[in-house]
Amino acid sequence: MERTFIAVKPDGVQRGLCGEIIKRFETRGYKLVAAKFVQASEEHMKNHYLDLKDMPFYAGLCKYMSSGPILAMVWEGESIVKMSRMMLGETNPADSKPGSIRGDLCINIGRNIIHGSDTLENAKKEVALWFKAEEFVTYASCAQPWLYE
Ligand code: UDP
Ligand code: MG
Repeated sequence: MERTFIAVKPDGVQRGLCGEIIKRFETRGYKLVAAKFVQASEEHMKNHYLDLKDMPFYAGLCKYMSSGPILAMVWEGESIVKMSRMMLGETNPADSKPGSIRGDLCINIGRNIIHGSDTLENAKKEVALWFKAEEFVTYASCAQPWLYE
């Protein structure tokens, strides 16, 4: 099983889309293993997006991401890193197909409502950056044998 870091960004929270986003992951069958509602510092966001530090939008991105609360989550499931990126759509909502989260729920690349780790390696890094070991909840999902052969 893989784990990935998913966050409803400040615009998604303000627009009341947390429930809709959680619903898509729940109904797909993924398992929520950690969650918290937090306002991140600009420093934390600079760290989170360190790979993008040379991009012209980096400063604005870190400011926007720390401007209000975020719903930070870790979801678990088979091949979830790749599958969740497909659920998100493209970085630019304008290139995202209808049916994807960004393709259905937002318009502008700078306000694209959701973050999802793009590789297994980055997922591991991001999960560790946002959550301590004691913040994970260990439980058996009753749906598990009906989701996986
Ligand atoms: N972003 C932006 N302008 C751009 C490209 C990206 O504002 O031209 C923002 C956008 O919020 C995006 C985030 O930077 O989600 C991180 O960019 P990345 O390329 O990692 O896209 P993602 O992995 O979120 O699809
Ligand atoms: Mg990314």
